[in-house]
Amino acid sequence: MAGIIRRLPNALVNRIAAGEVVERPASVVKELVENALDANARTIEVTIQDGGRRELVVFDDGNGIAHDDLLLTVERHATSKLPGDQLDDIKMLGFRGEALASIGSVSRLRICSRHKDADQGWKLGVDCDQITDPVPDAIQHGTRISVQDLFYAVPARLKFLRSPRSESLAITAQLKSLAMGFPEVGFTLVEDGKTRLNVQPAGTGHDDALAHRLEQIFGSDFTKNSFAVEANRESMRLHGRASLPTHHRGTSQMQFLFINHRPVRDRQLAGAIRAAYSDVLARDRFPVLALFLTIDPQFVDVNVHPAKLEVRFREPNRVRGFIISALREGLGGAGTQVSNDTARAALSRMQPGSWPHERVPAQPRSDSHSAIFGQSRYQSWDRPHQPRSLADGKLVELFDAPPQAPAPQAGLSQSDDRSHSAGVPDTDRTDYPLGVAIGQLYETYIIAQAGDEMILVDQHAAHERLVYEGMKQILADGEVARQGSLLSEVVELQATELNALLGQRDEFARLGLIFESFGPGAVIVRETPAMLGAADPVRLIRDLADELIEWEAGGTLEQRLQQVCSTMACHGSVRAGRRLTLPEMNALLRQMEQTPHSGQCNHGRPTYIQLKRVDVEKLFGRR
Ligand code: ADP
Ligand code: MG
Repeated sequence: MAGIIRRLPNALVNRIAAGEVVERPASVVKELVENALDANARTIEVTIQDGGRRELVVFDDGNGIAHDDLLLTVERHATSKLPGDQLDDIKMLGFRGEALASIGSVSRLRICSRHKDADQGWKLGVDCDQITDPVPDAIQHGTRISVQDLFYAVPARLKFLRSPRSESLAITAQLKSLAMGFPEVGFTLVEDGKTRLNVQPAGTGHDDALAHRLEQIFGSDFTKNSFAVEANRESMRLHGRASLPTHHRGTSQMQFLFINHRPVRDRQLAGAIRAAYSDVLARDRFPVLALFLTIDPQFVDVNVHPAKLEVRFREPNRVRGFIISALREGLGGAGTQVSNDTARAALSRMQPGSWPHERVPAQPRSDSHSAIFGQSRYQSWDRPHQPRSLADGKLVELFDAPPQAPAPQAGLSQSDDRSHSAGVPDTDRTDYPLGVAIGQLYETYIIAQAGDEMILVDQHAAHERLVYEGMKQILADGEVARQGSLLSEVVELQATELNALLGQRDEFARLGLIFESFGPGAVIVRETPAMLGAADPVRLIRDLADELIEWEAGGTLEQRLQQVCSTMACHGSVRAGRRLTLPEMNALLRQMEQTPHSGQCNHGRPTYIQLKRVDVEKLFGRR
């Protein structure tokens, strides 16, 4: 019997490939501009008509194309960018050799170019895969590629195009992101005779040029409301600018990420950014940023997406940890920037608990207790105590109980009086490393005195760490106190979220979170861990689902569980803005002393800082 399988004609193969590479005019701009950048262009001019549908021209002053290479440019899988055939060592933006072939199969394509060493230019035409032989052309330098009537031969595609206005906005956005990646190159975009974008290089050196370029693109508002990011770890570098937590948007559209200059939209990186800002920004808000990750090409696979928008890291968790700690470091530094000089002098005398910033490990969760405690000055309580079982929920009960008496105000004198009243320990007692609480500030910080040291505790960060360590203990012991919800909460979810959650149901049950599927797009929550107190089960489930999806690409079960614990801890923790009684404050301090890692919250920030009496006195000029 005769076979029915046939090899597809070349023209059809190209058109199929075009479906992946060329989605809309903006993707044509991306491919052509990337080619110009690969050819070392210093100036790139883009001209479009009718949102790029009628005509789209990219003119560059790069190296040009030699006559003998012209025909090959439009041949599929023909490229000048893989000289050593090494797919794991890609330094150019292009390498698949299919952009021009694809574009030529769905439009009228003209390539005019003069190679830098040639004495004349040449022109090649392709009309829907019909190639005409090169003819001499008057072009003086570089390469000019024009694409007319995009998709005219693929009516189905034409229907999917948006209005010329949206296509032109997409082109502008595309070009802006490329312009950020290459601040030493000038870019212009002219639409129907009007200049839409004109960014020229300025400043000396890459960092200067980048700062200037970011200001050109985001405006000076961004410069004022952002901080510089600069971090190096092993062979990785992260640099760029990121907005202060007060400067944010409703979507991630203003987040630009580059890996070795290549603009990418990567979910894992987006997740790392969200994690870095998690305790300073609401979950549904997004910082504005442009971040450049430089990494050895061998550690990242860029050949996983036809338009190369996604990447795969060889060690995703290492990259994630690096980005989170680099951003947190920047955010930490930015926090002191806003304070005035006097305050800064005071701050410079304050020390984060026992954990100087540079010692904060990238992934505190996986670090051993002793590694973190190694630098502590409190040898007396450095020993890795077994945390007193937090599983009994005592601490949480304490915080969830309505205050017995009116809580103290921030006024120190009032609290001081109280400290001498019955039941409250003496502030001069030195056997408590974190001292004795004397009051609460802004309903967020606990002020304590230990001998002649003043201690300021971030109550939310500290409690979060306690709950987190408690959850880890539960995981290790396998026993957990649960509480049934008063009414079973139904949480509606997307299919992917649902699958991710249901896939980990047994692990959640071990932690005391019991839920089951409820109809096609929801789960019903039956019980939550007692430790979490009155945490909102709906938000908890949603956050956990997000977390799981983010981690789906990498991470061992153990890491995922720790992440889950961390998310749960955040939900179960006593919030900033909650008024505490003195006994509650002292209970928290005593718990901290008995809990491993309690000097930093789950995000690696210190949970308390301390200031010596001499430093306080210096502030007032007494010394
Ligand atoms: P790729 O960029 O993946 O190699 P393309 O189809 O985009 O594939 O381009 C094919 C080849 O044409 C490139 O490898 C390059 O040698 C050449 N080329 C394309 N555009 C330019 C340009 N603007 N300047 C110089 N050479 C170019
Ligand atoms: Mg290319």
